[in-house]
Amino acid sequence: MARTRARLSFMPSRIQAMDLRTAQPAPKQADPHYLTPEHRAWSAAVIRRAGGVCQGSGCGRTGVRLFADHVIELRDGGAPFDPANGQALCGACHTRKTAEERRRRQAEPYRRPRPCGL
Ligand SMILES: [Zn+2]
Repeated sequence: MARTRARLSFMPSRIQAMDLRTAQPAPKQADPHYLTPEHRAWSAAVIRRAGGVCQGSGCGRTGVRLFADHVIELRDGGAPFDPANGQALCGACHTRKTAEERRRRQAEPYRRPRPCGL
């Protein structure tokens, strides 16, 4: 009897999951900039220069994967291929910086002075 039950647990479900979303999210696409040879060369140079050490403020983590990060983000007008605008960050520091930048960017419209001067 137990044998039958074990075999049944391996049967694939015959009920398909329904996607109930009315608006489908757009398919994820990498920004073409990150696929260019120039970006790859910049990224490799930034990571090489860091010597395996995360350059995040107060981090200094070693032995982890590093990500080349634009100090001034491209959407904020940062130079795309200038090594001076690059730093190597561990995953935690990169995620934190990206979240902080996003928060700052989202808050921006509310900080702008009103056209009427009030
Ligand atoms: Zn770090």
